[in-house]
Amino acid sequence: MDFDLSLEQQMMADTAEQISARFDPEYWREKDESGEYPAEFIAEIGAQGFFGLPVPEQYGGMGLGLTELAVAMESLCHGGGGGGPAIGYLFGLLGNLSILHHGNDEQKARYLPDMATGEKMCAFALSEPDAGTNSMNIKTFARREGDEFVINGGKWFITNIENSDALLLVARTEKPVEGKSKAGGITLFLVDLPQAAITYTPIPKHGFNYYKSNQVFIEDLRVHESCVLGQEGRGFYSLLGTLNPERVLVAAGAVGTARLAISRAVEYANERNVFDAPIGSHQGVQHPLAGAHAKVESAWLAVLKAATLNDVDSASKEAGDLANMAKYVAVESCIEACYHAMQTYGGAGFAREYHQERWWREAQLFRLAPLTQQMTLNYIGEHVLGMPKSY
Ligand SMILES: Cc1cc2nc3c(=O)[nH]c(=O)nc-3n(C[C@H](O)[C@H](O)[C@H](O)COP(=O)(O)OP(=O)(O)OC[C@H]3O[C@@H](n4cnc5c(N)ncnc54)[C@H](O)[C@@H]3O)c2cc1C
Repeated sequence: MDFDLSLEQQMMADTAEQISARFDPEYWREKDESGEYPAEFIAEIGAQGFFGLPVPEQYGGMGLGLTELAVAMESLCHGGGGGGPAIGYLFGLLGNLSILHHGNDEQKARYLPDMATGEKMCAFALSEPDAGTNSMNIKTFARREGDEFVINGGKWFITNIENSDALLLVARTEKPVEGKSKAGGITLFLVDLPQAAITYTPIPKHGFNYYKSNQVFIEDLRVHESCVLGQEGRGFYSLLGTLNPERVLVAAGAVGTARLAISRAVEYANERNVFDAPIGSHQGVQHPLAGAHAKVESAWLAVLKAATLNDVDSASKEAGDLANMAKYVAVESCIEACYHAMQTYGGAGFAREYHQERWWREAQLFRLAPLTQQMTLNYIGEHVLGMPKSY
């Protein structure tokens, strides 16, 4: 049992923290307020190889595992970015991971080298107004016409499509059959952007305004069958392969955000004097931060274990169990940490210039995307504890 990072992992964490310190909270505050894409940050982590961490060397990456990705994610958030880096990095990686796991040689050679450097980005389009948590309910339909598909439908909350060069689009290629699992008949398409047949409009939202999340309309989009990623009709099962990394990476981002929020709150609690003593000397301020810290640090151990188990055998039950449990505890501890960190500032916590209100808003997204906490608990209740499925 070794709880230390390897030398290579530590060096990577240091680099990530240094980048994150340069793109400090003020950078993210301005971007959030202006609703501007953090292009400089994305270009920098791309140039430093962070998108290429899981990509094999033959495609210009480093061929590293989920543990390194989790360490990078935590450090990018912890060093100064808060939640800001998490979503941009996660969504950038989802395309890479899906192509890596399910793409054929031609698709890998075509997309991965530019995606490994962040020069090209891939957005991910699964959710629909009637199919979020229950993703088997998607209605977007791809009808085969010879060696082409004609796709019609709509998606929502599709993040960063406006800055993406490709779209991982999830559509039905067969209608659900009564009495058969709805998981069949779903296909992944890798579609180049822009496309006249794909239009979108941003959904005004609560936080993460650096990235637009869009309502997407797809009208008679014609794609060649070579755009199918993985096996036709087996897309739902392909998606399962990226669920654990997704959960572990959100958990790592939550830990990084929480650590930053707590460290800033501790600084403030030590400096701010009310009634002739630093507010941090009052247990009403000190204990909530101490409790949150203990929970966040315990969650980080769970994240590292989940990542390590995934690197050993991503298909094992233990890897799935730990990925879900780590996501759950990391996000809960992040929400608690951000809440108490914001309260530490009193009224100042409400002011944008102290950043805590932004991290609090960002922590709310970790709770619901890409998977809600309730669905994580469903997984733990059913698969870890062995209780019946209720839905
Ligand atoms: C900012 C943002 C960015 C996003 N980016 C993307 C993106 O890029 N691509 C993409 O495809 N999607 C994206 N999403 C969508 C996101 O993945 C979904 O919002 C999420 O999966 C939840 O689905 P839903 O919103 O439809 O909730 P619903 O499915 O409507 O669920 C509503 C509530 O009911 C609960 N619930 C439902 N069923 C059960 C059950 N059986 N047991 C217990 N509780 C249950 C849920 O947990 C949730 O709290 C994004 C969302 C947001 C907010």
